[in-house]
Amino acid sequence: MQVWKFGGTSVGKPERMHSIRNLITSDDQQKIIVLSALSGTTNALLSIGESLKADQPGEAAEKIEHLKAHYDSFVRDLYKTSEGLTKGQKIIENEFSFIRSLTRIKPFTLKQEKELVAEGELLSTQIFQAYLEELEHDSILLPALEFMRIDADGEPELDYTERKLRELLRAHGDKKLIVTQGFICRNPRGEVDNLKRGGSDYTASLIGGAIRADEIQIWTDIDGMHNNDPRIVKKTFPIRALTFEEAAELAYFGAKILHPSTITPAKMFGVPVRLKNTMDPTAEGTLIANKTSDQVFKAIAAKDSITALYIHSLRMLNAYGFLRRIFEVFEKYKTPVDLIATSEVSVSVTIDKTDNLTELMAELRTFCELEEPDYDQAIICIVGNFSADQAGIALQVLKAMEGIPIRMISYGGTEHNISLLVHGRYKAEALNALNEGLFELKEA
Ligand code: ADP
Ligand code: ASP
Ligand code: MG
Repeated sequence: MQVWKFGGTSVGKPERMHSIRNLITSDDQQKIIVLSALSGTTNALLSIGESLKADQPGEAAEKIEHLKAHYDSFVRDLYKTSEGLTKGQKIIENEFSFIRSLTRIKPFTLKQEKELVAEGELLSTQIFQAYLEELEHDSILLPALEFMRIDADGEPELDYTERKLRELLRAHGDKKLIVTQGFICRNPRGEVDNLKRGGSDYTASLIGGAIRADEIQIWTDIDGMHNNDPRIVKKTFPIRALTFEEAAELAYFGAKILHPSTITPAKMFGVPVRLKNTMDPTAEGTLIANKTSDQVFKAIAAKDSITALYIHSLRMLNAYGFLRRIFEVFEKYKTPVDLIATSEVSVSVTIDKTDNLTELMAELRTFCELEEPDYDQAIICIVGNFSADQAGIALQVLKAMEGIPIRMISYGGTEHNISLLVHGRYKAEALNALNEGLFELKEA
């Protein structure tokens, strides 16, 4: 079995839904189809939530009716029969009546916000399943809320998903096409929750791992993982093959094409991940598996909104145990550290989760001296094959970065990653400079 995931733009227009139906029925293979919300919907739902949080029900109601009008016209173009259209309209009436009901709940809490934002995937999948039914395809909609669950730390419970999915597939596994929602799940309290923005990729990979799929395909609006961020750098090219490790580094360090955690379950079970373009299905895309090419520099990504902390030991020299004590504090506040640079008595670290920063810093201050943190930093991550025996690799990177101030460098964590910390204002400049220096791609 394969798992195919279609992102927001891939389902965002009726004609796109027509194309993905052609894609998924072009062979006879059984598939689990994971869908995101229609493009723009998740943002629109979050914006409705903002109005409700600000106690502006009138403004929220206006936004809701605007969104509903979009869906009304979407289903008018999608279905070919009056039975199909009636079904589509019923789905919209049901879901929007639930959305409207949320505007009457006061106060509007995080619980309601999560229920609201889940509506995007609930709408897209029901609308698509009704479309497959209209065309008499052998398909079923399996609700993700019955098999996707996160623990108290927000981490997916893969064992639970595996067990639940096995039961569901035993009951419905004869269907050729099994449609489900990306992104949404339940939390330990049984409430509706989600896997964070862009989480449908992660759903696909968790399902792929859980059922030991033959392949996970992520269908999006670009022909695979590019060598640099196409939103910032003009001349980029698709990479044909990446290892799980290389792709995981790029996703974690900002390549938006994949949710940061997508690769973990796929790698755990050795399930290949293929990135494909819905707008150009014949394009080769990117295959993420165990094989790679021996090219030195493969790709660059950047992660924004990074905070750098500068920590000094109060004891001078031979301060053993210092790192352990520091990292215990990061562990206590559930704050992952991305980059680390050390000297005899000082440590600099970067984090991107700052919700506990005040408490974390107060606790560090009980045994360290802290400088003022640097906010709005960016990690520039360069991925490739950097054999420790090969001279000149770091030189080439630093040469490309000539003229751009670098705050931290991490080299040698693996043979596949070099990371640099720069102020966010230099991010675009750094990505372009590295594109030119490492790939000889100069902007016109
Ligand atoms: P979807 O809605 O299908 O999940 P996303 O918008 O989340 O799509 O991801 C696809 C987008 O990721 C592309 O349109 C592109 O702008 C962006 N992107 C950022 N970095 C990269 C990269 N290195 N390679 C390819 N796409 C990238
Ligand atoms: N719809 C969700 C989002 O926009 C999940 C996804 O698209 O992957 O973040
Ligand atoms: Mg995405």
